[in-house]
Amino acid sequence: MYPVDDPGAGRRPVIAVIGGGASGTLATIYLLREAFDRGIPLRVALIDRHGRHGLGQAYSTTHPAHLLNSPAGAMSAVVGDPAHLTRWAAEAGLPHDGFLPRSAYGRYLTELLTAAERSVQPAVRARRITSEVVAMRRGSHGRALRLHLAADGRIDADAAVLATGNLPPAPPCLVPQGHCYIADPWKPGALEEAADGSPVAVLGTGLTMLDVAIALTDAHPRTAVHAISRHALLPREHNWPRTAATVSAMPAIRQPAAPLRLTALIRDVRASAAAYPGDWQDVVDALRPQIPRLWEQLPEQDKRLFLRRLARYWEVHRHRVPPQTARRAAALTLAGRLTVHRGHLAAASGQRDGVHVRIDHGGSSNELAVGWLINCTGPAADITATIDPLLRGLLDSGLARPDPLHLGIDTDARGAVRDAAGRPASDIVALGPPLRGRWYETTAIPEIRDQAAALARHLVTRLHRAQPGSAA
Ligand SMILES: Cc1cc2nc3c(=O)[nH]c(=O)nc-3n(C[C@H](O)[C@H](O)[C@H](O)COP(=O)(O)OP(=O)(O)OC[C@H]3O[C@@H](n4cnc5c(N)ncnc54)[C@H](O)[C@@H]3O)c2cc1C
Repeated sequence: MYPVDDPGAGRRPVIAVIGGGASGTLATIYLLREAFDRGIPLRVALIDRHGRHGLGQAYSTTHPAHLLNSPAGAMSAVVGDPAHLTRWAAEAGLPHDGFLPRSAYGRYLTELLTAAERSVQPAVRARRITSEVVAMRRGSHGRALRLHLAADGRIDADAAVLATGNLPPAPPCLVPQGHCYIADPWKPGALEEAADGSPVAVLGTGLTMLDVAIALTDAHPRTAVHAISRHALLPREHNWPRTAATVSAMPAIRQPAAPLRLTALIRDVRASAAAYPGDWQDVVDALRPQIPRLWEQLPEQDKRLFLRRLARYWEVHRHRVPPQTARRAAALTLAGRLTVHRGHLAAASGQRDGVHVRIDHGGSSNELAVGWLINCTGPAADITATIDPLLRGLLDSGLARPDPLHLGIDTDARGAVRDAAGRPASDIVALGPPLRGRWYETTAIPEIRDQAAALARHLVTRLHRAQPGSAA
């Protein structure tokens, strides 16, 4: 048993936060502050399988050319204080042209976590635990939940926060299972071996592909990257520097009495973009915070249509790269070290010293012999196929169910996880990427930050009411 509470100090509420990335870290920071402000002696266990507390997948990179894809002014971790990150960067002496290195953002989150921990002790405490939660069940030992950790540990908790991040990418076809196939480029050390100078095939042409191409070509002067995707769409470049968007950039979406339909929505967005005299990027940025509300209103068939036909175009316009990253990609292309292939991976077979891949497009095929095949296709699109022990167990036991689109976990509007019968749990909540089916736009810091603050208020209120002697 992990001693999350102080031995002999009496019974204090315990919340287990599963996942130490940006979502779990922000949830912990807001939980600590909320409990402290209300005088509740909370204990928080922040559990991360890789010990990447404060960093997670996006902010654990140490490569200086891996930059934030959003301007620092849009990445504050503090609700109601949009300039918090830019002030922090100035005080930390970190010069930037608007786009900080992602490692700096990891440092920012880690420092915020440490500061929150310090300011609330001893009444409220967090403990950082490095382990994988392999199962979570209803508890029968005085606390609502029992978490089982890899290597036999256990944590009993009154509530749990699922901050497990994106699903790992799924292979598009049968791939050789061996050392030359890298299934998840974000795993610690995943790219180390691939920097051996042999050519590399990367599946996907999004932000992750660019990160991988920059890291591998920097690591070895001979490495050449072949990026493969059906539509060969690359993320657009931020038009930067840019003045703040005007209010008129907000697309005028008509609210019909009948449910919102995708065709009407697209028509309205197109009309607004055409009428707006400024930069199209203003329109996309103004639309983005509206997406969760609009997504919720769309009928399921329209959401499926969007995912099938339009999501890829939305993604490349909404997830843009800083000019510096775009210049790096252009230079690599010019030097013949980055080639984009349009088509789909039809076959991949393991060879003695690498992989042979076949790319099909419009009736023709292109074959490549490469040393490495790296999957950068983004999060898998079907949670029901997951082999993650925790998620698998939650789905199989009925403690959680997939959202109707199978993109993640089904929850109510507060992130309360619905069981197999559709009942929202009062003590299991999720935030960030697992809520993709519910909100669609739920993976960037502004959404995660707001969800973390709201769930902290909700959980701490609930625990407060459940305390013996509470007036509620
Ligand atoms: C390359 C990249 C660049 C990005 N750039 C930006 C940007 O510029 N601006 C922006 O707003 N957003 C950006 N994002 C998006 C966003 O900030 C991240 O997706 C966000 O950090 C998600 O954090 P998370 O904690 O939900 O997931 P993750 O970072 O994936 O963290 C989840 C953690 O949980 C752990 N975990 C999972 N399951 C278990 C388990 N069972 N037991 C224990 N631990 C577990 C994982 O190991 C992982 O460390 C970027 C994302 C990426 C990938």
